[in-house]
Amino acid sequence: MANPAPQTGSAPGRGSSNAAYPIIEHTYDVVVVGAGGSGLRATMGAAEAGLKTANITKVFPTRSHTVAAQGGIAASLGNNTPDHWSWHMYDTVKGSDWLGDQDAIEYLVREAPQAVYELEHAGVPFSRNEDGTIYQRPFGGHMQNMGAGPPVQRTCAAADRTGHAMLHALYQQSLKYSADFFIEYFALDLIMKDTPSGKVCVGVIAMCMDDGTIHRFRAHSVVLATGGYGRCYYTATSAHTCTGDGGGMVLRAGLPMQDMEFVQFHPTGIYGAGVLITEGARGEGGYLTNSEGERFMERYAPSAKDLASRDVVSRSMALEMREGRGVGAEGDHIFLHLDHIDPAILAERLPGITESGKIFAGVDLTRQPLPVTPTVHYNMGGIPCNYHGEVMAGDPSDPEKIVPGLFAVGEAACVSVHGANRLGSNSLIDLVVFGRATGHRLNELIKPGESHDELPADSADLALTRLDHFRHANGGSPTAEVRAEMQKGMQKHAAVFRNSELLAEGVEALARVNKRMEDIHVTDRSLIWNSDLIETLELDNLMAQANVTIASAENRKESRGAHAHEDFPDRDDANWMKHTIATFDGWGGKGGKIEIGYRPVHEFTLTDDVDYIEPKARVY
Ligand SMILES: Cc1cc2nc3c(=O)[nH]c(=O)nc-3n(C[C@H](O)[C@H](O)[C@H](O)COP(=O)(O)OP(=O)(O)OC[C@H]3O[C@@H](n4cnc5c(N)ncnc54)[C@H](O)[C@@H]3O)c2cc1C
Repeated sequence: MANPAPQTGSAPGRGSSNAAYPIIEHTYDVVVVGAGGSGLRATMGAAEAGLKTANITKVFPTRSHTVAAQGGIAASLGNNTPDHWSWHMYDTVKGSDWLGDQDAIEYLVREAPQAVYELEHAGVPFSRNEDGTIYQRPFGGHMQNMGAGPPVQRTCAAADRTGHAMLHALYQQSLKYSADFFIEYFALDLIMKDTPSGKVCVGVIAMCMDDGTIHRFRAHSVVLATGGYGRCYYTATSAHTCTGDGGGMVLRAGLPMQDMEFVQFHPTGIYGAGVLITEGARGEGGYLTNSEGERFMERYAPSAKDLASRDVVSRSMALEMREGRGVGAEGDHIFLHLDHIDPAILAERLPGITESGKIFAGVDLTRQPLPVTPTVHYNMGGIPCNYHGEVMAGDPSDPEKIVPGLFAVGEAACVSVHGANRLGSNSLIDLVVFGRATGHRLNELIKPGESHDELPADSADLALTRLDHFRHANGGSPTAEVRAEMQKGMQKHAAVFRNSELLAEGVEALARVNKRMEDIHVTDRSLIWNSDLIETLELDNLMAQANVTIASAENRKESRGAHAHEDFPDRDDANWMKHTIATFDGWGGKGGKIEIGYRPVHEFTLTDDVDYIEPKARVY
């Protein structure tokens, strides 16, 4: 599909433009940055409400990382086992290790069934039961009877290509509404305005990657749906495009990121390649063994076993390897067995991973075990926001204060429903539930065609100064080299297990590599499809978040969810049941000072239909 024709003509009070970069103007009610599951759902909602909506995306919508989601989407439909939304709520709170906000979690699980039916009606070809209802599979940490068990079948799936089916259906649906798509446009920076009551977002600056033209989008609201930042690690299941650009923009705007120390390691990345094998594999009966052929999860999680939550399984695997029971010549991986499952079931329910096993491990998983290892998979942390998608300003005197005009959804956001550890299949449902909630909120707040505030005089300065700086960067450090150093630093210092010494070294190592941004070298000076420049801008976004992640991890003196601190092995609710919020000053190696503060966890529910779930020990 062709990109829409730009609107030309000057907007009064549009602010200065850097003479070297003429600016093409656009005016919208709403601009959504990102066309993954969350961005498309928010775009649909805004456009359906009659708001003039633009979607800016650096990759073609159906190539967003959501396309790679395999295992499924959680909702308490109760098709294959009894289920109830309050059970889903309990599991999500427990999975989050009590760092999730319970009002937002209640909203998520109550809206989930309707969101799945909506996807069904939008054309997602869900796998079916004999009676025609949507088939649901077990997934880690999802149980019946308020955690008591047995495992519940809650995860709806389209074989092992759920994200693919969802993204295509959502893209097709969004074309039905008159949203304008700006495809292969790279968003550079937010346009922020200072007002007496604080910062307000009034638009975003983007570059068309094809011809290098610069575009200024004025908007009443900007929705950041830019996905996670998994690529700040060396090995990750996420796509190379998962560089957390939205988080980078938020930090440059002087706003905080939340709970960045919580990085999920998925237990079953293919050893060496990092490619994901869905948890659905264990949901369908797969299990893990060590070098002695032992099903070791029975020791660590006697009840849920291989279907314990991801942080628990990843830690157990790491311990087995550390204690000399890893498999392979180096003892550095674990076996995943699917070879006992009927090949016809594998072909029907897990065709994609059967293929991945062949391609990336050279293994026929109908007969052989697959070598796997815990691999970076998901960012629980992100842009702090409430369950309407409204971004929080991080004001210590008013923790719920929002930034008018700025929203965040999907993996870029931290609502926070996943807290310290996300349950499998709870992200896809988060995308559509909160994408839709954001659409509702925009509809409440904006009248279609309302006139726009004046832009600040310097509206494009940050974006264009930064662009120009990197475009002409002529130091001695190629982007790829600096990126690899950052990724290896994160892999070494902020892995499954952390300790004070490793983290303190990590903070310094990341500050050193951030300093190298001053010496960065970009070879290509053109503006026509300059991947060297785009990768450098992405690295700058990753770098800010890598630094905030390691500093937040170093700061948290307890173990909770995915943050397993060996010097503080217990959860400490008295001192640490609070969200970390952290800012990062400056970009491109200038400064890099990190300031850490806190936000209270919401220890209340949305309605009186359910009681607040009191913290207790987390045992699976
Ligand atoms: C391999 C894999 C399998 C997974 N399987 C499951 C699963 O089975 N179930 C589950 O619940 N979760 C799963 N997850 C997690 C889940 O898929 C993701 O968290 C989710 O899809 C993220 O969606 P999103 O809408 O936030 O962003 P994404 O789908 O990552 O999309 C980001 C969008 O932002 C755009 N963008 C980014 N930066 C810019 C910029 N600077 N300018 C313009 N556009 C920009 C991109 O073009 C893209 O359209 C999986 C994740 C992976 C990696």
